[in-house]
Amino acid sequence: MEKIDILSLDLKELEAALVELGEKKFRAKQIFQWIHIKKVFDFDKMTDISVQLRALLKEKFCINGLFVQKRLESCIDNTVKYLYRLCDGNFVETVLMEYSYGYSLCISTQVGCKMGCRFCASAIAGFVRNLTPSEMLMQIYETEKNSGVKISGLVLMGIGEPLDNYDNVLKFLGLLSHKDGNNFSLRHVSLSTCGIVPRIYELAELKLGLTLCISLHSSDNSARSEIMPVNRTYNIEKLIEACKHYISATGRRITFEYAVMDNINSAERDADRLAELLRGINCHVNLIPVNKVKERKYTTARTAVADFAKRLEKRGINATVRRTLGSDIEAACGQLRRDAANSNQ
Ligand code: SAH
Repeated sequence: MEKIDILSLDLKELEAALVELGEKKFRAKQIFQWIHIKKVFDFDKMTDISVQLRALLKEKFCINGLFVQKRLESCIDNTVKYLYRLCDGNFVETVLMEYSYGYSLCISTQVGCKMGCRFCASAIAGFVRNLTPSEMLMQIYETEKNSGVKISGLVLMGIGEPLDNYDNVLKFLGLLSHKDGNNFSLRHVSLSTCGIVPRIYELAELKLGLTLCISLHSSDNSARSEIMPVNRTYNIEKLIEACKHYISATGRRITFEYAVMDNINSAERDADRLAELLRGINCHVNLIPVNKVKERKYTTARTAVADFAKRLEKRGINATVRRTLGSDIEAACGQLRRDAANSNQ
């Protein structure tokens, strides 16, 4: 029989699994704390658990680790990029970034991505599978162990579309913030989506306190459909309506991500349309230069981001220019995984 992935179980499920094995319910909390507070991933090191129970745990459960395949440190800033190998040989990327207020981690939610955004490296190698809750958690736990730092902010902006792996992402967030475990505040989590509208409505109902980021990248439907195929299913009007609902249901401000691309979305009329679209919405616009992906032609001229920010400001729209971290280590999502997958062929 296949062993149960213990790190993906919430406390109630672990209690039920132990009771089924004839064990006392309270043992579950002890084990949960070993894993999620002490970050001990070897049953033999759980010293207040009897030797018999440890043997049973080893027989019935597994703890799937991640292995550091590559670790790249930026020379420009303190960004560290990890290429993690999963138990089945797939790869995901995790990026550790240092800010004035602490360390933030960008994690992947899927192996590859189905969304097909034209400018994104994750789309090129295609979709393989969803990550499990434990694989998302392990990116945090392993990175903390490996780097020796405490992570205080989390962004779901690595490889994959989090709302396309909705159930596992929610379970992961529940585990991460569990008061008997890691107790991470979801106020310090940002979840980025290309705009899967029905899931935005579902997420709104949960009022998790996280920051929702929308990868908008264009205010024009035909341009957006060209660079982001998801727009053909959920167009800009539907997306903005969902965002307004999210804001009124949760009281939280939304962030719109906008990668400024030459000849695509950075003209005067793009700023006009964007300002019109976002007027009166409790939001913030994050402008970024496009990360160069070798198979793709998208570019951002040297002053294009600053110019676009000025255009938005003139129209009364609050925009910041995101600092690009780790530009020397291919910190753009998906590039390392794709290279690793190619070299395995
Ligand atoms: N699927 C989610 C999260 C992963 S992508 C989403 O679409 O939001 C994280 C962010 O990086 C998104 O805003 C995405 O549009 C952006 N991104 C992807 N490739 C990029 C590139 N080459 N340059 C700049 N931003 C990019």
